[in-house]
Amino acid sequence: MADCIFCKIAQHEIPSSIVYEDEQCVAFKDLEPQAPVHVLVIPKKHVESVLALTDADRALVAHILVDVVPQLARELGVAEKGFRVVANTGDEGGQSVKHLHFHLLGGRSLQWPPG
Ligand code: AMP
Repeated sequence: MADCIFCKIAQHEIPSSIVYEDEQCVAFKDLEPQAPVHVLVIPKKHVESVLALTDADRALVAHILVDVVPQLARELGVAEKGFRVVANTGDEGGQSVKHLHFHLLGGRSLQWPPG
């Protein structure tokens, strides 16, 4: 999608620190990390948010959450102690980039409730 910064990252049109990539998704380091480990996992296809997912996206979401996130958590060294997966959605959900992304945060003790 034109003017979507995460589409541009997925298409390698702007630089990012990619830590994982396959045909369906990309994971890269967050520009403003909120924890020692903070990566974003995004589908390559443009989906605005969790609310825009459809039946056709079931395999894609399962791939991200069943395959990619646990593998990354292990590789990045946070699987054992624990980590958080967050998909901010909409304005009050704190979503600033309108391309579906899963934050993977870890490497420190995370507080609850979030701000
Ligand atoms: P959210 O506020 O949930 O929409 O998360 C968007 C995240 O994208 C924020 O944590 C930003 O720091 C991050 N971000 C924005 N632009 C970039 C970029 N070019 N490269 C890496 N992370 C980015």
